[in-house]
Amino acid sequence: MIGYYELPPFRPPTEAYSLLIRATRNCSWNNCEFCSMYKGSKLEIRAVEEVKEDIRTMKMIADEIKEWASRIGYGDRVGMVARANGILWLDEEVVKNVFIGDSNSIIMKTEDFAEIIGFLYEAFPTLERVTSYARAKTVVKKRPEELRTLREAGLTRLHVGLETGDDELLRYVRKGATAEEMIIGGRKAIEAGFELSEYVMPGLGGRERWEQHARGTARVLNEINPDFIRLRTLGLAPNTPLYEKNQRGEFTLQSLEGLLIEVRTLIEDLEVTSQLVVSDFSANHYMWEIDGKLPQDKERMLGTIDAMLERVLCKGSFE
Ligand code: SF4
Repeated sequence: MIGYYELPPFRPPTEAYSLLIRATRNCSWNNCEFCSMYKGSKLEIRAVEEVKEDIRTMKMIADEIKEWASRIGYGDRVGMVARANGILWLDEEVVKNVFIGDSNSIIMKTEDFAEIIGFLYEAFPTLERVTSYARAKTVVKKRPEELRTLREAGLTRLHVGLETGDDELLRYVRKGATAEEMIIGGRKAIEAGFELSEYVMPGLGGRERWEQHARGTARVLNEINPDFIRLRTLGLAPNTPLYEKNQRGEFTLQSLEGLLIEVRTLIEDLEVTSQLVVSDFSANHYMWEIDGKLPQDKERMLGTIDAMLERVLCKGSFE
C-alpha cells in the first residue's frame, strides 16, 4: 500500500505542474506585516529521512501509475492518465520539475538540504528544474561554497521575495532585510549559478510611499539583474498587521490609477536584462498585457500601461 506524503501549502504559480516536496514547515521569519501565509505556525525543519520517505512514496506513485497506464492500454499516455487521477507532476513518463517548500527551505543545514536534493535526482533522474523559496537574508548568511554545494547538488532556481527595494518601506512592513542585503543576497545567488526570480509587490507602499517604493525597487533590481522579475500586487489579508494599519487610517490602499503609475515608474527606471512576468498572478488582473523581456520590450510595456491609464482615466475602469 502506498503511504502519505506531505505537501507545502504554498507554491509559486510556475510550479503548478511540479512535484511538490516539503523539506521545512512554515516560515523562519514570519514577521512581514502584509503576509498571512504561515501566521500562528513556527518553523520546523523536517528530518532528512522523513523527507526521503516522502520522495520514495512519490516514486512509488509514479511507478504505479506508469504500470497501471500500461495495463489498461494507455502506456503511451502516462501523463494523461496521471492528470486524470489528479497527479499533475508526471509529465508523460517522467518528472521534470520539483518545487521544495516551505517559505525558506535553504535555512536547512546545507549538507542535509543537498542530501535531499541528491536523493530527488536518484529517484527521478529526468529532473530538469528544482526550485525553492529563499529569504535574501538567509542567502546572505550562507557561505559562497555552501550555495555552490546546493547548486551542484541540483537546486537550479531560487524564488526570493524582494517586495520592495526601499529601506523605509522594508522597515515599515518588517521584511527583516535591508535593500543592501537584498542586493548582496541576489548577487550571491547569481554568482553561485542559480536562476533567480525576484518578487515585487506593487501597492505595498500604499498612496503614502508609492514613488519611493517604485524607484527604490528599480534601483535594487538594477543592482541584482535577476533572471525573472515577478509582480505580485498587494492583497490586504484581514489577519495581518498591515490590514490593521489600513483600518486605523495609517496605510491607504493604492487606487487602480496609482498602481498603474507605480508599475510604470518601476519599469521606466529598470535597467536590467530580466524577464518581467505579470500575467501569472490573479491580483495583477489590471495589467495582464505587459509581460516581456527587458530592455527590448520596455517601450511596448510602457505604451500598454499608458493605454490602460487612459482607459481608467476616461472611464474609471477597463470596461
Ligand atoms: S518571509 Fe515570506 S512567508 Fe515569511 S512572513 Fe515574510 S512574506 Fe511571509
